[in-house]
Amino acid sequence: MNRNNKSFTTNTYGKVEYTYEQERQFAESLSYDDVLLKPQYSEILSRSDIDIGSDLGLNHRLGLPLIAAPMDTISEADMALSMDRSGGMAVLHRYNTPEEQARVASTVIKLHGATVAAAIGVSDDFLVRATALYEAGVRTFCLDVAHGHHILVRRAIASLRLTYGNKIHIMAGNVATLEGLNDLSDWGADSVRVGIGGGSICSTRIQTGHGIPTFQSVLDCAKTDRDVKIIADGGIKNSGDIVKVLAAGADFVMAGSILAGTDECPGELIKTHDGEFKTYRGMASKDAQMDWRGRTSSLEGVSAVVPYRGPVANVLQDLERGIRSGFSYSGASCLVELQAKSKFIRQTGAGQLESTTHISGR
Ligand code: IMP
Repeated sequence: MNRNNKSFTTNTYGKVEYTYEQERQFAESLSYDDVLLKPQYSEILSRSDIDIGSDLGLNHRLGLPLIAAPMDTISEADMALSMDRSGGMAVLHRYNTPEEQARVASTVIKLHGATVAAAIGVSDDFLVRATALYEAGVRTFCLDVAHGHHILVRRAIASLRLTYGNKIHIMAGNVATLEGLNDLSDWGADSVRVGIGGGSICSTRIQTGHGIPTFQSVLDCAKTDRDVKIIADGGIKNSGDIVKVLAAGADFVMAGSILAGTDECPGELIKTHDGEFKTYRGMASKDAQMDWRGRTSSLEGVSAVVPYRGPVANVLQDLERGIRSGFSYSGASCLVELQAKSKFIRQTGAGQLESTTHISGR
C-alpha cells in the first residue's frame, strides 16, 4: 500500500500494474447528457393512461413525482399550493423564524387543505422549529443539510423519532453514495435526497473538489436493499432528465432551476430593457448567507437572474407531458415498469450534439 492507499504491483519489466482498487478510484461516472434511453415496443394507447406517480409514505402519493426545493427563491406558500394542485409537492424553506415558517405552513394546510413538507436544520433550534411546524400540521420534515452523511443528521433523526415516532415522514440528505443512502435509511430516514454538487447554482465541486454526477449517484443508490425512497436532487434541466433519472432508480425528483423565474417564486420581478427577470440563488451563495445570517462561511453557491416565465402551472404541465411521453417511449405504464424495462445507452460527443436541436440556418 502506498500513502494514498492504492495497491499496485510491479511486473518483471518494472512496469506498474494497477489493481482493481486503484481503477475503482477512477471509475467512470455518468451524467444526464452521457446517456439516452432506448425507445421500445409499446402497447400504451394513450399517454393519459400512464401513472407517473409514486408513494411518498404516510398515505401520501404524488401524482407528479416532482418536489420543489427548499430554497428562498423557490418554495413558499404560492409555490406549495401550485405544486400540490399539480400533483407534486414543495418543501418550505427554513430561512426565516420558526414562527414565520409555521405561519406559511398553516396557510397552505389549514386555509387551503394542501399538503406541504418543510425544511429544518440539524442543530440549534431545529426541534423548536419542528414543534412549531408539527403544530401547524406538517408531517413531512426535510433535514436540509449539504453533507447529509454526517453524525449530526444521525442525531437529529434520532431526536425526531424519539419525539414523533412514525407519525412523521423524515426526508434527509444530501448524500452521493450508496453507503450514505443506506446509513441514512438505517438511522431512520424514510426518503433521501441524492445528489451532491450537481445543482445549477452550486459551486460545491469547484470549492471543495467533492461530488458525483447526480445521475451516477442515483444509479449507485438504486442498488440499495433498504426500504427507502430516492429523491434525485440537483441538475435537472428538462423532462428528459427526469425520465432518465426515474428510469435509473429514483422515486422522485427535486428541482429548483426548472421552476425558477415563475410567478410563484418568492422575489420581485426585475424589469430591464432586456426583458423581465427574477432572482434564483443557491442557499450557500454570498447573497443568501448575508441575508439570512449576516455573515458568510464557505461559499458553495451563486446567485443568478433568470428570465420571467409566468405561472408555474404551465411549466409543470409541459414537464408532465414530457414525462408521460418518456414513459410511453419505454413502453411503461408506471414507474415500476419503467425501471424494469428501460435500457440505457451511452452516447458519444457527436450523439450529444445530435440530441440537442441543431438546425443551422438564418
Ligand atoms: P437545480 O434544480 O439544479 O437548480 O438544483 C437545486 C438543488 O441545489 C437544491 O435542491 C439543493 O440540493 C441544491 N442547492 C441549493 N442551494 C445550493 C447552494 O448554494 N450550493 C449547492 N447546492 C445548492
